[in-house]
Amino acid sequence: MQEIMAMANNSKYLFITGGVVSSLGKGITAASIGCLLKARGLRIRMLKIDPYLNVDPGTMNPYQHGEVYVTDDGAETDLDLGHYERFTGQATSRHSNITAGRVYWEVLQKERRGDYLGGTVQMIPHITDHVKSAIRELVSQDVDVILCEIGGTVGDIEGLIFLEAIRQIGLEEGTDNVMYVHLTYVPYIAAAGEIKTKPTQQSVAKLREIGIVPDALICRTEKKLTDSIRRKLSLFCNVPANAVIEESDVRRTIYEVPLMLSEQGMDELILVHFRLARPSAHLERWRKMVSRIHHPSGSVRIGVVGKYSELQDAYKSIYEAIAHGGIAHDVRTEIVKIAAEDVEKGRAEDVFGKIDGVLVPGGFGHRGIEGKIQAVRYARENNIPFLGICLGLQCAVIEFARNVCGLKDANSTEMDPQTPHPVVSLMEEQKRIRNLGGTMRLGAWPCDLRSDTIAINAYGTEHIRERHRHRYEVNNEYRSLLEQKGMVMAGVNPDADLVEIIELPTHPWFLATQFHPEFKSRPLEPHPLFRDFIGAALKHATEKDQ
Ligand code: GLN
Repeated sequence: MQEIMAMANNSKYLFITGGVVSSLGKGITAASIGCLLKARGLRIRMLKIDPYLNVDPGTMNPYQHGEVYVTDDGAETDLDLGHYERFTGQATSRHSNITAGRVYWEVLQKERRGDYLGGTVQMIPHITDHVKSAIRELVSQDVDVILCEIGGTVGDIEGLIFLEAIRQIGLEEGTDNVMYVHLTYVPYIAAAGEIKTKPTQQSVAKLREIGIVPDALICRTEKKLTDSIRRKLSLFCNVPANAVIEESDVRRTIYEVPLMLSEQGMDELILVHFRLARPSAHLERWRKMVSRIHHPSGSVRIGVVGKYSELQDAYKSIYEAIAHGGIAHDVRTEIVKIAAEDVEKGRAEDVFGKIDGVLVPGGFGHRGIEGKIQAVRYARENNIPFLGICLGLQCAVIEFARNVCGLKDANSTEMDPQTPHPVVSLMEEQKRIRNLGGTMRLGAWPCDLRSDTIAINAYGTEHIRERHRHRYEVNNEYRSLLEQKGMVMAGVNPDADLVEIIELPTHPWFLATQFHPEFKSRPLEPHPLFRDFIGAALKHATEKDQ
């Protein structure tokens, strides 16, 4: 039966596992392979499996997890899905990320419903079957290859059941239809002046113990792999020499990775393995984009005023979207991370003088909020281009209410439930919610743009859909006062009449969104708002210099 299914659908499965250490950039590598397969004309779907027990990362804090990436259909997912979308130009969905927590949760719910008809419910076959069916959920007539990344590192206890499941898929689908790629670390030991293969040998040995023999190795390394190292890796890991691929640290941008892998024949290797014939990769646009990053004609400095300014991963999509805005103007974007709490303590004054644009990103809770509000004020009063996102919009509304409308102590009820002027507050539906997981306003919502605004000029269309992740909203009771004082509601949700975009027309470029535009920005298609924000910052920088 399964054989018939595989033949009917002709889907191939490519599994990416990781070895030796975490933080090797498995998500970027998987996304790069996705980019290459698309460039070869293959239709793909990508999936990330996370072995932790949270049902999704929506309730995890950024110190634990980094950014929570939101899909159009409102799933709160792993940030690697952001890489998948940026590298493949293709949207992901709630089927693109599963966690061990979700698998166990669903199996246990089935057990409670009596679906197992009194049988003993076990890791094998019940959990493994559930994992396999979640992977096969992506199989369809219009998909050639399913690319599935297994989170964590081989040897982790919590990842074992997933490796067992993908081993079984290999058995069921046949070797031509399943490929295992192992991303590993090949360290250089400076004291010995040598590159070492042993950690990789041991990691592959662990995989083989489970019954998975990798078909290719991608080696993260700081030094070039010599021929003798490649031969050694090939021999000890039982991988053909041409399937030992080097992935060295990139010079300037992660978008070099697909090109690096393609030069070593990674896409060809996959096609040969799957016995698929396709024309060579169309990477011209990608190559041009990377070359633009390598040869900028200028630079701008963007201050990002965040709560987690020390965490690279907390604002991943925002940093990427800023870089995309730079690509659109051929400039390098330098990100100046400003801790909101430093602004509060007056420790950030010199920094503000040196930046060309201020971005206040999303966030939760009151820590750093007053610093963010001060940053908005600085940008508004000094005519510095400003982009606020989600909490950034809420801060802009609070700042305007306090300092322009004269509403002393105006606030969001998230920060001050007793505020006399709740300019940002909860909608009635949200007040009744008790569970924190998956209950915010999530995913893509429609928004109508008002004529004669920065927003409509940027998008070039009246109706847009953007992704949300928040509970609080601009309080419509204050809308007419804010408008009287000069704030323009440039984008509004047509169904619920909620404010989605605000602007200040007296300022050179001041815009904030309740949604997260960063999730839809891609290097080949920079998001219009980020593109124009960087354009405004560039103009500001040029005028400042004159
Ligand atoms: N904390 C705010 C809310 O829940 C903003 C959320 C965000 O910035 N993503 O509405």
